[in-house]
Amino acid sequence: MILDGESLAKKVYLDVKKRVAELEEKGVRPGLCAIRVGSDPASQLYVGKKIRACENCGIKSKAVILDETAEESELISAIQKENEDPSTHGILIQLPLPSSIDTQIVIEAISPKKDVDGFHPFNVGRVATGVGGFPPCTPKGILRLLDEYGLDVRGKEVVIVGASRIAGRPTAELFLSRMATITVCHIETKDLAFHTRRAEILVVAVGRPGLITKEMISQGVVIVDVGVNRIIDSNNPRGFRVVGDVAPSCRERAYAWTPVPGGVGPMTVAMLLENTVIAAEASLTGITV
Ligand code: NAP
Repeated sequence: MILDGESLAKKVYLDVKKRVAELEEKGVRPGLCAIRVGSDPASQLYVGKKIRACENCGIKSKAVILDETAEESELISAIQKENEDPSTHGILIQLPLPSSIDTQIVIEAISPKKDVDGFHPFNVGRVATGVGGFPPCTPKGILRLLDEYGLDVRGKEVVIVGASRIAGRPTAELFLSRMATITVCHIETKDLAFHTRRAEILVVAVGRPGLITKEMISQGVVIVDVGVNRIIDSNNPRGFRVVGDVAPSCRERAYAWTPVPGGVGPMTVAMLLENTVIAAEASLTGITV
């Protein structure tokens, strides 16, 4: 079974549009500001997609683009300006940032109320303690997708490969909050296949095409492939194609899987818009998300 993130994202957008209209009746138009540093083509593409999705849903969006050589202080000033702007409800910093900039300092400069990517320690802490917060968009999108297809995670053996702050770790937190049993694998994991074979739900977020092969999984597993990798393809007009971290042959053994592209990626963008609407709604009530 294909877990179709593209279709579910469209459903999420219908709800987002409805909530945007309700907010507008109350005099608030949700606004998202995307800040990008430099001209990395992948970052340009991602920011473009997010801005277009906002426009389609009636969310006011803007992109602030700083030069590759911008100083950390310039970026912080741009964030502070958006923190103070009441028409901006969500701020996202497109990662990765140039190595001269300390990503953590930048993330912590965002007002937690506008941290719709859910990377600020305030939100990381609230999500981890189960009291609220903005969950990061990728893990939130993964769980929404599994819910949509009636795939209950409670009590399931969930193995997550990759332990980054933006993907693997918050995914583990969200699955734990839903009472799954979690194993997180990373670069130091001794026998990756031992763990992946035990998985009833396998989430892979590493960035290495073909890392997971058919021999490493069990029959009936649900595969969530977060990886986005460009590989050279001379038959493709663009000269490359996008693949995940899981070898296509794994589908033969899987009960369900997310395609790449068209699985987790569209859900990540949809959850960003949903978080922005939630931030705008919270700006009316003053309640901490
Ligand atoms: P990242 O920061 O590089 O993290 C990768 C993680 O995988 C790290 O924890 C790393 O460990 C671990 N790792 C590396 N090689 C491994 C191996 N052989 N076995 C097990 N673990 C290994 O990357 P990321 O930002 O999490 O992104 C991961 C992938 O997901 C990328 O392809 C990215 O483009 C994609 N992504 C997609 C979406 C989406 O919306 N679809 C969203 C976010 C990310 P160490 O840090 O110790 O090396």
